[in-house]
Amino acid sequence: MKYVDEFRDAALAQGIARAIAAEARPGRRYNFMEFCGGHTHAISRYGVADLLPENVRMIHGPGCPVCVLPIGRIDQAIQLALRHGAILCTYADTLRVPASGGLSLMRARARGGDIRMVYAVSDALAIARAHPHKEVVFFAIGFETTTPPTAVAIRQACAEGLANFSVLCCHVLTPPAIMSILESPEVRELGSVPLDGFIGPAHVSTVIGSRPYEFFAEEYRKPVVIAGFEPLDVMQAILMLVRQVNAGVARVENEFTRAVTREGNAKAQALVAEVFELRKRFEWRGLGEVPYSALQIRAEYAAFDAERRFDLDYTAAPDNKACECGAILRGVKRPLDCKLFGTACTPETPMGACMVSSEGACAAHYTYGRHKDIEVVA
Ligand code: SF4
Repeated sequence: MKYVDEFRDAALAQGIARAIAAEARPGRRYNFMEFCGGHTHAISRYGVADLLPENVRMIHGPGCPVCVLPIGRIDQAIQLALRHGAILCTYADTLRVPASGGLSLMRARARGGDIRMVYAVSDALAIARAHPHKEVVFFAIGFETTTPPTAVAIRQACAEGLANFSVLCCHVLTPPAIMSILESPEVRELGSVPLDGFIGPAHVSTVIGSRPYEFFAEEYRKPVVIAGFEPLDVMQAILMLVRQVNAGVARVENEFTRAVTREGNAKAQALVAEVFELRKRFEWRGLGEVPYSALQIRAEYAAFDAERRFDLDYTAAPDNKACECGAILRGVKRPLDCKLFGTACTPETPMGACMVSSEGACAAHYTYGRHKDIEVVA
């Protein structure tokens, strides 16, 4: 298979769907979590859930970087632009996430904040070079996939002596989030869902490899299948999970062999380790505070750490009470369980983070009309 179309072949997908239906045992339920927002997007876009038998259920996980960012972190970014007068650079989706006081980065821009959308952290570096008399802060979000470029930018800024560039580091880590879903008493208190296995992330795993998931398979007896983002990848991963459950085994399997190895990308890992270290605690939307689940900039690069440079404190802020994003990110609720879905909350008027990014469960459901299918069936 060389071309992407071959991973979207309808006849092959139906063949795998028949195999899943034949092998999923009647009388048993199979609850699998797709951790990553990219898989959530693919499942909605290609109607993967519609091809599955009734007793095989896919549950959305917390793997959408914009969705898990808590309001308190967006508030910090707004503070940098409005109070400290910095040029704040970030990715497009982050601009629309609701923050405290009815604000968002977009609305803060309307109030005079110099907030700019960038496609890559290198754009923020270019802005810093072009405006040597202004502070320029890159609002860095995302999982292990987006962390190496931020590390490269900090090293570059250091090498150039770029004194007006810094990073508000909100990079988070996949394995501690999975662990939190499986065992954290706080998450249990908030409500969690019984799971029989995970579809492991695609892009994240190209960096960290498949090895970090072996712990979950061994310690928690949960099968993990790492899968690519195409519909056939996801279908094949579901079949592999059903087979593991039926056989009573819990292993890490790699469906995405065209990009993921057991060891991952050693060069990227070394870069990240040079610039970042673990944070003791980090708040996630939906999961609460998760120990050692995020990164902070090492003391050697403290000059490029916006939190130290601007002496920022972190204050947690509550989500909109009617928004169910937290429960959706834990897999306890689905987008349709939210009263605001498709009415007050749409991709044009997001009330919560899960409706902002295309990887968010609510946005994926809305964009691909999954809610309409369900209405028709009902
Ligand atoms: S539909 Fe909107 S308000 Fe409801 S959970 Fe999703 S993002 Fe939150």
